[in-house]
Amino acid sequence: MIKLHELYFEKYIHAPVIEEAIDRVAGQINAEFGDKNPIFLVILNGAFKFASDVISRFKGDCEVEFMKLSSYDGTETTGNVVVQLPLEVDLEDRHVVIIEDVVDSGNTIEMLLTSLVHSGVARCHIASLFFKPKSYTKEYKIHYVGMEIENDFIVGYGLDYNGLGRNLNEVYKLKSNIMTNLVLFGPPGAGKGTQASILKEEYNLVHISTGDVFRYNIKNATELGTLAKSYMDKGQLVPDEVTIKMLSAEVDKNADAKGFIFDGFPRTTAQAEALDVLLEEKGTQVSAMVALEVDDEVLVQRLLERGKTSGRKDDANEQVIRDRIKVYYNETSILKGYYQEQDKYHGVDGIGDIDQITARLRQVIDKL
Ligand code: AMP
Repeated sequence: MIKLHELYFEKYIHAPVIEEAIDRVAGQINAEFGDKNPIFLVILNGAFKFASDVISRFKGDCEVEFMKLSSYDGTETTGNVVVQLPLEVDLEDRHVVIIEDVVDSGNTIEMLLTSLVHSGVARCHIASLFFKPKSYTKEYKIHYVGMEIENDFIVGYGLDYNGLGRNLNEVYKLKSNIMTNLVLFGPPGAGKGTQASILKEEYNLVHISTGDVFRYNIKNATELGTLAKSYMDKGQLVPDEVTIKMLSAEVDKNADAKGFIFDGFPRTTAQAEALDVLLEEKGTQVSAMVALEVDDEVLVQRLLERGKTSGRKDDANEQVIRDRIKVYYNETSILKGYYQEQDKYHGVDGIGDIDQITARLRQVIDKL
């Protein structure tokens, strides 16, 4: 993943695939024009790299000329093709190979070919490293195509986004799947786990419950579990360093996720900041903190009830439950301010039927 200006791009076409395409196109051009002393007409700026690769593989005599055209404004191709550097060479009876980086709508090609109509050119073929068939609106034949691609906006290998990215040796595409990342918040017993398992199905998100991951590790007697156990049994927070490392590993395990529900994380400002960094590296961010609000006494009763069947030590003892709620208000609830400052905090009434509460959450999420 790379960032150019304000946008994120993900790896799309790797160097060996590009190389293979260039070899193939160069072979075709050699076969067709090897003994014709062609003029390679390179369309700047994007085609400079492809042109250099193709022309350096050309075996016969040839000449190289340049025209500079532009039809992109940011990531959008526009109908207006502007000639910034015109061609000032006699093409009469010459064989011309136009070298393009990408043929998109075809406006540039149309404009070019129209301008060559009266030049007396003997033959004019078009070579393009990339071709977007779904966006092509013209009939002109593109004789040599390195690769057909979808309608994604791409950068690298000569192609740019507002001037940047031309130096990249591989091709990246604009990251399109904006992730939904929810921080599900609320005191112990608020119903975060219950709601998370419903929402993850509905929104196709990956649910990460730090409490569950710790409990899994305790059950399997891992190093992490041994470390976390002493804190958890007392209802205290596991140290940030350990928790952040664990969370980061869980996120990495799900590289292709459409988004996450973080349940029980972050619980401290340091964790919230670490989460921001982690998501920023993935080109995304926290979409919202959704907090289930439930009265303390209701929480205590719910957890004592759960403790009868959950087997959780920290649910069995009323004092530990009260300590966990206290930890929530003392250490964790400051995060409300952290997300409020970013306009990302949404409080939701956590008392009622499970369905009712899900509906309230849905109302918030659907507006994100
Ligand atoms: P939970 O299942 O979310 O109620 O978490 C149970 C226990 O796991 C907590 O009381 C903490 O000891 C520990 N824990 C879970 N998440 C975190 C976190 N983000 N930071 C520190 N400790 C955590």
